Amino acid sequence: MHAPVGGSPTPDAGSAPEGVLFDIDDTLVDLEQAMGHTLQAIPDPALSHLGDDDWVRYKALYTTDPQRHYDRFLAGELTFEEQRVHRVRHARAVFTPEPFLGRVAEAWVRAYEQMLPHHFRAYDDVLPLLDELDARRIPYGAVSNNVHDYQRAKLDRAGLGRVRVLVGIDTVGVAKPDPAIYREGARLIGTAPSRTLYVGDNRLVDAVGARDAGLLGVWLDRTGTGRGSGVDSGTGAVPPGSPGEDAPEVPRIGDLVAVLQFLPPVR
Ligand SMILES: [Mg+2]
Repeated sequence: MHAPVGGSPTPDAGSAPEGVLFDIDDTLVDLEQAMGHTLQAIPDPALSHLGDDDWVRYKALYTTDPQRHYDRFLAGELTFEEQRVHRVRHARAVFTPEPFLGRVAEAWVRAYEQMLPHHFRAYDDVLPLLDELDARRIPYGAVSNNVHDYQRAKLDRAGLGRVRVLVGIDTVGVAKPDPAIYREGARLIGTAPSRTLYVGDNRLVDAVGARDAGLLGVWLDRTGTGRGSGVDSGTGAVPPGSPGEDAPEVPRIGDLVAVLQFLPPVR
């Protein structure tokens, strides 16, 4: 068994979880890797001089989104496409004075949209966990900070069509960490929020947000580096200094198989 990295392990029998909800991006689907492959595959003469280290930095600038353009998308200030353009423009400006506008940006976005889905993959620990949940008849689903149809296609593309319940930001009209979005996930899998685990790679938006909504929030820290602590990346609507940033510990796990430790033992 995989021990939880931190926080409290199995809850007492009176509150044992009966269902599991997952974040999608960088929890079930390796979006960071998909983005990285795609960024490097798009033909861009202005970046042809980049060495390996430069590519690492360029990709990190895009994926971590330090200017929080994705949060502006969640807030309705940018379209999904616009947040992509802003992110790549910011990353690209570090490496080239060439402007990223007009037809150059349009062609880039088209290429990105075409290529990215080909790289959607589930992490290796997803299917073994889902097999185990199915064997134990434990319902599960996904709650994500993107629109439903886009995430449905992403799950299907990643071989996760069996995750039938999916709540997106357009399902309830709010994004994480609004309590309503996690609770809708619990409602759809048929478990009380207090008996529902919510697992995600962002400590604040996933684990703390779910806990504040009355679920059992668990932080998936795959790298063990605390990178998804929630204060350094723009994947979820919680700016620095928000309530919850100094929140008490939430259970932390290093891989998805460790989710089983929170579930009642097999009888
Ligand atoms: Mg995520």
